[in-house]
Amino acid sequence: MTYLTEVPALTLKNPWAHLIARRGKNIENRSWMPPESLTRVLIHAGKGWDDGPFADEWRNSLEPIATSAIVAVADLAHACNTSRHADRLRCGCNPKWAQPGQCHWVLADVRALAEPVPCGGRQGLWRPAPDVMARVAAQLGVVAR
Ligand SMILES: [Zn+2]
Repeated sequence: MTYLTEVPALTLKNPWAHLIARRGKNIENRSWMPPESLTRVLIHAGKGWDDGPFADEWRNSLEPIATSAIVAVADLAHACNTSRHADRLRCGCNPKWAQPGQCHWVLADVRALAEPVPCGGRQGLWRPAPDVMARVAAQLGVVAR
């Protein structure tokens, strides 16, 4: 199995996508659990900006922040729903990033793309076009199928 075979994308607002790709954020908070078959995911930065925590810190950052582009590839180490219906964290996930009332997609081996690959985003897990996958794969030195 090659590295990018059947790897779907997930669209996130910034600064979250950027924080995962470049700043060590290893938990994606979602209202839903990933399919059990999911082991790897492309991180896509959408057009939107989330005005939640960390927003101000990054909105005025001089660091380039990509939008409407695939910015990273990450492994899904595991998913946690222990705090899904709680109003405070009840799991051992990193409290810097894990939010209560959410499922936690715990990411590992995040590989940021040197050159984010532009494309539009979608809801849920989605399949980028073959040319987009090829451009991602070229940066990772693997073949997309
Ligand atoms: Zn958790």
